[in-house]
Amino acid sequence: MSKFWSPFVQNLVPYVPGEQPKLTNLVKLNTNEHPYGPSPLALQAMREQLNDDLRLYPDPNSDRLKQAVAEYYGVRPQQVFVGNGSDEVLAHIFHGLFQHEAPLLFPDISYSFYPVYCGLYGIDFEPVPLDEHFQIRVQDYARANGGIIFPNPNAPTGCLLPLEAVEQLAAQSPDSVVVVDEAYIDFGGATAIALVDRYPNLLVTQTLSKSRALAGLRVGLAVGHPDLIEALERVKNSFNSYPIDRVAEAGAAAAFKDVAWFEQGRQAVIASRETLVAQLRERGFEVLPSAANFIFARHPEQDAAQIAAKLREKGVIVRHFKQQRIAQFLRISVGTPEQNQALIAAL
Ligand code: PMP
Repeated sequence: MSKFWSPFVQNLVPYVPGEQPKLTNLVKLNTNEHPYGPSPLALQAMREQLNDDLRLYPDPNSDRLKQAVAEYYGVRPQQVFVGNGSDEVLAHIFHGLFQHEAPLLFPDISYSFYPVYCGLYGIDFEPVPLDEHFQIRVQDYARANGGIIFPNPNAPTGCLLPLEAVEQLAAQSPDSVVVVDEAYIDFGGATAIALVDRYPNLLVTQTLSKSRALAGLRVGLAVGHPDLIEALERVKNSFNSYPIDRVAEAGAAAAFKDVAWFEQGRQAVIASRETLVAQLRERGFEVLPSAANFIFARHPEQDAAQIAAKLREKGVIVRHFKQQRIAQFLRISVGTPEQNQALIAAL
């Protein structure tokens, strides 16, 4: 606390990201990155940007990237918003679409950045408990609200809500914005982008950090009705005109064109996940059904925090959350078969 701070800063409770260790010999299974490198076409497109043109600002509207996203999903560019990681896109959504009288609803177990944005923007929220199997119950959201947001698949559980249930959520709250945070959708679900033309209150966010292996590039996006996108553009253009730099725009646009790399990468992760789940179950772990590039597991006898600490001593890092309801779970990112084997050996 300092006398120089704006008063609200004292009460902020910032998000704590997973550790990015300086040591390079660790088996890093703690922040859900892709285990393989990005598309070679994306890397090539980025290399081509490393020239004297970097003295020029990028396109503030990122039209080339929006066009690539629009083509990929079969929507119009006016239905696409892009930002510096989906975290920034989410920040603008909270700021521009969720500041209403009624409380924002999201699952009690979900992305821990949501309550942080509520704190930053002064948004009232009500956590809605997942059921005893850690699933979202659609009927629990059928009440007055100032917006709804949830990850699908959910994080950190990995559980998928079927597309029909997502549609029901959008249909039963036509007067509020329903945001589906699809950071992990490519590892096992069907995108709700297919529904945005029928539900003007539905907004879908995605990221290039997971299934496109570009977490270091910081590119995320939202797709929805042009009126929702316009709100995000207004907020963005009141905050930072150039969130997507020249290198990022070229790399992200190229990544959407490399469908072969994308398919191969995600199929490899899905196959590794299934092997890992089976191996953990053999060792007595309860593993929630995962449609993501991570799994959420607990052991009936061993304390999760202790397992995480001991794994770290052996050079394997996984994520443990202190939140009471999930304090006995570990979230483990799916690595390469070699990394997953190192985890199993350490266990
Ligand atoms: N949503 C969820 C559910 C996530 O787990 C993450 C990754 N921490 C994000 C959004 C943000 O990802 P990024 O900012 O890298 O796009």
